[in-house]
Amino acid sequence: MRIDLVPVGDLEEGVVETSKRVLRERFGVEVVDRSPVTIPEEAYDPKSGQYNAERLISVAERVGRGDKNLAITDVDIFYRQRNFVFGLAYLEGKGCVVSTNRLRMTADGGEVDDDEETFYDRVRKEVVHEVGHTFGLRHCDNDTCVMSFSPTVREVDLKFERPCPECSRSL
Ligand SMILES: [Zn+2]
Ligand SMILES: [Zn+2]
Repeated sequence: MRIDLVPVGDLEEGVVETSKRVLRERFGVEVVDRSPVTIPEEAYDPKSGQYNAERLISVAERVGRGDKNLAITDVDIFYRQRNFVFGLAYLEGKGCVVSTNRLRMTADGGEVDDDEETFYDRVRKEVVHEVGHTFGLRHCDNDTCVMSFSPTVREVDLKFERPCPECSRSL
């Protein structure tokens, strides 16, 4: 079992490193980072100024050679009717995506936060969350479980970076 990381666009070095480390720890698998790819123009939605999360999953699946392939980007992404998402995955799929774009916000929204520790905590949680879906984990009602759904950073901050015992058992 191997997970490939596919940086899409320019990313801080730390984001790839911290993602690699947490995926190895949580899933106990080999993790390989691939060369960064440019953001595909066809993923851009001029109306919202955002990028289509589903298109970025396609990039991860096309470029990655892992059993699971995670695209990581710092552009803002959306999924269907949702204004924005932190990430997207298909249950038991081969690919998923995480965006760090809104993970620097303060819990009450809007303001950009330069608290690096909080930012990297959130990156790790969202990376584990999306890859967790590809391993078959669904959303969990336990709000400290990494698999709980997070519509805002407030919920991200509430959860731990690991699955609850119940979710861990179904891994
Ligand atoms: Zn989810
Ligand atoms: Zn859980």
